[in-house]
Amino acid sequence: MRKYVYDFIEGDRSRADLLGGKGANLAEMTRLGLPVPPGFTVTTDACRAYLATGTPPDGLYEEINTHLRQVEARLDRRLGDPDDPLLLAVRSGGRYSMPGMMETILDIGLNDVTVAGLAAHAGDERFAWDSYRRLIQMFGHTVHGIPAEEFAHELAAVRATAGPGGPNAEQLRDLVDTYKKIFTRHVGHDFPQAPHEQLFLAVGAVFSSWRSERARVYRRQERIPDDLGTAVNVMAMVFGNLGPDSGTGVAFTRDPATGAPGVYGDYLTDAQGEDVVAGIRNTVPLTELERLDPASFHRLRQIMTTLERHYRDLCDVEFTIERGRLWMLQTRVGKRTAAAAFVIATQLADEGLITADEALTRVTGAQLAQLMFPAFDIDGAAPPLAVGVGASPGAAVGRVVFDSAAAAAAADGPVILVRPETNPDDLPGMIAAAGVLTSRGGKTSHAAVVARGMGRTCVCGAEALRIDVDRGEFTVGDRVVRAGELISIDGTSGRIWLGEVPVQPSPVARYLAGELRPESDPLVAAVHRLLGHADAVRTLGVRANADTPEDARRARRLGAAGIGLCRTEHMFLGERRALVERLILADEPAERDAALDALLPLQRADFVGLLAAMDGLPVTVRLLDPPLHEFLPPLAELTARVARAQARGEDPGRDATLLAAVRRMHEANPMLGLRGVRLGLVVPGLFAVQVRALAEAAAQRLRAGGDPRPEIMVPLVGDVRELAAVADEARRVLAEVDGAPEIPIGTMVETPRAALTAGEIAAEAHFFSLGTNDLTQTTWAFSRDDVEGSFFPAYLARGIFPVSPFERLDVSGVGRLVRLAVAEGRAARPGLTVGVCGEHGGDPDSIAFFAAAGLDYVSCSPYRVPVARLAAGRVAVAAGTDSSDSR
Ligand code: ADP
Ligand code: MG
Ligand code: MG
Repeated sequence: MRKYVYDFIEGDRSRADLLGGKGANLAEMTRLGLPVPPGFTVTTDACRAYLATGTPPDGLYEEINTHLRQVEARLDRRLGDPDDPLLLAVRSGGRYSMPGMMETILDIGLNDVTVAGLAAHAGDERFAWDSYRRLIQMFGHTVHGIPAEEFAHELAAVRATAGPGGPNAEQLRDLVDTYKKIFTRHVGHDFPQAPHEQLFLAVGAVFSSWRSERARVYRRQERIPDDLGTAVNVMAMVFGNLGPDSGTGVAFTRDPATGAPGVYGDYLTDAQGEDVVAGIRNTVPLTELERLDPASFHRLRQIMTTLERHYRDLCDVEFTIERGRLWMLQTRVGKRTAAAAFVIATQLADEGLITADEALTRVTGAQLAQLMFPAFDIDGAAPPLAVGVGASPGAAVGRVVFDSAAAAAAADGPVILVRPETNPDDLPGMIAAAGVLTSRGGKTSHAAVVARGMGRTCVCGAEALRIDVDRGEFTVGDRVVRAGELISIDGTSGRIWLGEVPVQPSPVARYLAGELRPESDPLVAAVHRLLGHADAVRTLGVRANADTPEDARRARRLGAAGIGLCRTEHMFLGERRALVERLILADEPAERDAALDALLPLQRADFVGLLAAMDGLPVTVRLLDPPLHEFLPPLAELTARVARAQARGEDPGRDATLLAAVRRMHEANPMLGLRGVRLGLVVPGLFAVQVRALAEAAAQRLRAGGDPRPEIMVPLVGDVRELAAVADEARRVLAEVDGAPEIPIGTMVETPRAALTAGEIAAEAHFFSLGTNDLTQTTWAFSRDDVEGSFFPAYLARGIFPVSPFERLDVSGVGRLVRLAVAEGRAARPGLTVGVCGEHGGDPDSIAFFAAAGLDYVSCSPYRVPVARLAAGRVAVAAGTDSSDSR
């Protein structure tokens, strides 16, 4: 028979697929000898079987009972014992952490009889009735979907009439009665008294919580597969709500916002853990625990050091102190901000816990990209309206909205979602908002944890805000801020301003631009080191897409080793449009040649500037690609102009000629029409003038003592004969230019036919550059300009693809063409250089694929160059590249 249940002493952290992250780590802590209440884990296998059939797999309950008896034996207490009942926590926990997304039910095992036993044993009647009412509330909500507000409403009413010490035992007993009535009214039968029945129903409800709407939304956002299922952890309860010598908290081994070492966390005296995570009561900083209970504080610090050394990474923990005794309830490798990821990775390397290679794998290209975002320029700003807890960094400016639906629906610019606190139902709004602001909860509240995970700016616990969601306003002192007003929030300092505060570049961006020394701050130093290591280990080259000397210089500063794509179309814009018009409208070869002759010196000057900026590095110039009519006025505009002239009885003159030309050149599918290499073959002299300009520019740079490395790239080739014809003409032109260097002639591979005939094409091409934007368009038959706005949202929602294939390379389709082109191209021409110049060249996941496919370089926008360098270094480490001789 299949094994569905593992005791904590049986599992370990390597089995997170089966035991879920929480279960695997509870097992790991148990193995380390840390104080974990005994318990066991029901596997994700069991969950998948349960969700597939709607019933528990055969033998599951018996297996649970067997393990339960072991727990009872170890504690010498029994579930349902009227004198001294064992109580259980039933907790969800999938492979990947989904904070607050699924369900947990505490205090299983309480009923009308055992509540008295608990009271007697704990010597605290009030505590026992409070625990019972918590059970009915959590059980009613989780198992039967009773709205939490119904219970909360009654609780608030009792609290309102209670004395300063809170409700007494009698009031809580009455509250339990009220709760039971709510339960019966909703469910149609009484609250189940049999402890084992409670347990089995709770396990089933946790399984089902995997499928809740909010869990699905979260998984889609975090790209967690929908079919993994959750494990269920069943463990003995420990009580943080047994008076002032009890409490509960969460802690990080380092600051998850900045990475600074130290003690970070929140603590709540006389409370159960759910009170902390929900952000309901305001916590005290963990450092206070040193004063309240020094012994537990020091034990906790010891344990956190043990955990950090064992996991070799930042850990977070949930713990409870029951009458001075510390219990560990959860640990995991903690989520952190991008800045903290860089700082912690270098710290751990310095402390000898991880190698430099490992440090590189602890940060991602996406995190580096995030760090390059600007921050607020607060020097001239007015004083802040209020200050909360900076919970997830960034500078967000937007209009105030007060509920998730409004945030998700907002169309006119960015919004800030303002809530007293957030819960999982706010997730769609948090995804849609530029930032999140709450008045309650600390760095570990739901809002903070979820926002950090998403890279969303978040300020929480801004207690000065009186938020009235129903009226759609909040007040600070006597200032009223209404929905729709602009505010600015700083997720690092926690400051909140009215209106729009200007932003300034990030220190990381300034360092990358050469404006800051690496040692100027710890984050910049960490980025400097990890990027340096990435450069030392990577084999994939990184070039930039740049069309102007300014872009080229910027790209070079950011670490680009050349230009992988210089688009020449911008060189035909501005006042040069007139020349293109002349070229298009020319009836006689002489007119056409005159237009081309006028273009020649302009193009040459462009190229001289670019080659100078990239002196010593390759500059790949793509011959003109877009359809020529893109350089003429739009059809509608011309038609209107001609019609107006005619209505006034005037001669439309040149406009009429242009209109006729635009009509003649009109195409139903311009992306599949007269463009790329086809232009070169049907517009005499066009490519020749570009080649001549480039050759003359290179010659000029050589004469000036420079080291120009131009390359000519032919776009949209589908057949080797197209390329051969253009290359022949180019070679003739090159031969005519005195003092020009050797200039390689290569091709874009951006049509399926080019990939499929790469072997033939390579015979004529000195290099390949994969144009993955067009290759994606033509392989999928997606018109990029149309589909992203039309049906992609539906495709993403339906999971047809998890992310747009224009953002992340479609490895199984387009990727096969890439591999084919590389293999057949290199078979025909050994050592053929192959790069990629589509937007995918800057996407970290796509970069991993390109490296694996054997590409020589990626080319991306200048700002993505550092991201690509880092990603390429990570790939090299993952592939086991030897870097033992580097730092
Ligand atoms: P989540 O994954 O949403 O954090 P948990 O399963 O960790 O949910 O449970 C929520 C809270 O319940 C925790 O913060 C913890 O403090 C409390 N809790 C969990 N297990 C126990 C237990 N055995 N005894 C007492 N409290 C517990
Ligand atoms: Mg937890
Ligand atoms: Mg293209």
